Amino acid sequence: MREVYFDHSATTPVHPVVAEEMIRYITGNFGNPSSMHSYGRTARKAMEEAREKVSLGVGAGPEEIVFTAGGTESDNMAIKGAAYANRNQGNHIITSAVEHHAVLDTCKSLEKEGFSVTYLPVDRFGMVSLESVADAINDKTILISIMHANNEVGTIMPVPEIGRLARERGILFHTDAVQSMGKIPVDVDEIQADFLSVSGHKFYAPKGVGALYIRQGAPWLPIRHGGGQERNRRPGTENVPGIVALGKAVELALADMKEESSRLVRLRNMIINGVMEKIPHTHLNGHPDKRMPNHVNLSFEFIEAESLVLSLDLEGVAASSGSACSSGSEKSSYVLSAMGVPKELARSSLRLTLGRDNTEEDVDYLLEILPAMVERLRLMSSSYKDKH
Ligand SMILES: *Cc1c(COP(=O)(O)O)cnc(C)c1O
Repeated sequence: MREVYFDHSATTPVHPVVAEEMIRYITGNFGNPSSMHSYGRTARKAMEEAREKVSLGVGAGPEEIVFTAGGTESDNMAIKGAAYANRNQGNHIITSAVEHHAVLDTCKSLEKEGFSVTYLPVDRFGMVSLESVADAINDKTILISIMHANNEVGTIMPVPEIGRLARERGILFHTDAVQSMGKIPVDVDEIQADFLSVSGHKFYAPKGVGALYIRQGAPWLPIRHGGGQERNRRPGTENVPGIVALGKAVELALADMKEESSRLVRLRNMIINGVMEKIPHTHLNGHPDKRMPNHVNLSFEFIEAESLVLSLDLEGVAASSGSACSSGSEKSSYVLSAMGVPKELARSSLRLTLGRDNTEEDVDYLLEILPAMVERLRLMSSSYKDKH
């Protein structure tokens, strides 16, 4: 049976070159970067080279990059650190209803500490409008946090415009670039971000490592305390193998981003067009063109996406319903619901996210098995039978 992995927005495999680089810092070069001897110096050098690569990848200076334990930690550090450092200026934060839980739940926790949060609505494509951001700003607003690309529907937000607005109003701007990093250009100056979060495992580095960009001079306070590493911004002995891997993964992503992105767009459109053509009562979720090159989200009327995910798995295809982080915990997606997608359609939404390892043959295989699978599941649904 063919094995096809179509869940790259949940996580990616570690690139073999990344793994090879990383392993050298697990076995031989195991030093603590804080040590003065040669082991320590070797580790520190590798870490600083990785910092250089990550900073180049987002258009920042190396001193503006702090290594973290992943996207969730970066989001927490950005939002809480900015909120605590600026509570004398105000207590209002603006975000959107479709952010990752790492942002939403951080904001919810700040609400319990006396901050007030506006969760902006989105349009039917999952897009936040610049006008709604402008309207939400008041004289207490200290931070705006809007994601670059949405993990569930792949919509790319107008972050450069939001960043410009924030800067004009003297408000800090954070963007969660976990889904976009390594796939489309991410530039902190173009976005005018003060804080930007990335996560290694979404672009072929391992899980448990990420980075936070903190603009030089941005008012911000650390939320962790300890031995002074990362210039006190994120203390704790550094995850050197993970950091080296992150640097390598950024370098590899930049090397062929244009080519890889157009290859993925072609495969993505083959899936969308193929499914629309072969399977009736199907809807594309998210923006038709302002969407991530690798992202497909489709709703199949009369079907529970969970059964579809399980059927696909039996045929060797890994996909997901809603987002990996929330499936199981929620009946239907809060992102689709914020977009005004009716509950039945939200519950029938299938997310297919492509990556480096996918080929045209993978897409052909999917398009070969999916129509019959959908038809079989629909025939088991009473609402479908009533109508057909
Ligand atoms: C995966 C993801 C995160 C969380 O990153 P982790 O490294 O898994 O903690 C945050 N934001 C978005 C948009 C994501 O897709």
